[in-house]
Amino acid sequence: MRFDLHVHTTVSPCSNLDIGDILQNARDFGLDGICITDHQTMEIRHCFKEGVQDDGLCVIVGMEYTTSDGDFLVFGPLEDISPDLSAVELFELLEKCGGVAVAAHPFRTLMPVDEYLIQEGLCSIIETVNGRNSYLENLRADSCCRKYDLTHTGGSDAHSLEELGKVVTRFTMPVKSRSDLVFALKNNRCYPEWNMPGQLSYHGLVFLNPPILGSGWLGHAFKCLNPLF
Ligand SMILES: [Zn+2]
Ligand SMILES: [Zn+2]
Repeated sequence: MRFDLHVHTTVSPCSNLDIGDILQNARDFGLDGICITDHQTMEIRHCFKEGVQDDGLCVIVGMEYTTSDGDFLVFGPLEDISPDLSAVELFELLEKCGGVAVAAHPFRTLMPVDEYLIQEGLCSIIETVNGRNSYLENLRADSCCRKYDLTHTGGSDAHSLEELGKVVTRFTMPVKSRSDLVFALKNNRCYPEWNMPGQLSYHGLVFLNPPILGSGWLGHAFKCLNPLF
């Protein structure tokens, strides 16, 4: 099942992506599911019935939670979460309530996640493909994932309809509810993929974006090393 795990609606002040447009277009974009991750709020849950919709699209409500040590996509019973937790407090709360966190764009230059959270084993799931990251930011996240043997996800970080579904997380088990999603993430039943023509989708190499690599030395090195080319 292919989910866009990182989507902002107009409830986030920075997004112009309407929930109606998401629900209407997601299936046509090849998606089986969407996670709404507005900044610091799950208010969007009042606008539709969470779960599987009439057209088969599964819509789950989470949140992108900002701490001074980075941003996290969080899923679980977090409707009333206090807005100013530290990252360590956030992980303690998730442990208690049975929720889960994914480090969002952990190596983005402007909003990185502090690596000690990964080194200390507090955070074991990271977004290695983010539709708004640069190639190098995704590449750094992928090498971190390999170094610490983490679970990895992908999401478009869409703030407009054009961005929706650009990057997805493929789940290797059925996900039909928020609890299915939490289970699948905690049990490493997923991996990221690009969902755009011309972009490589291959487990383990999804962070690479051949059109961006081009014909320069990096593209050449990639093609020499990659048996798929
Ligand atoms: Zn935003
Ligand atoms: Zn975001």
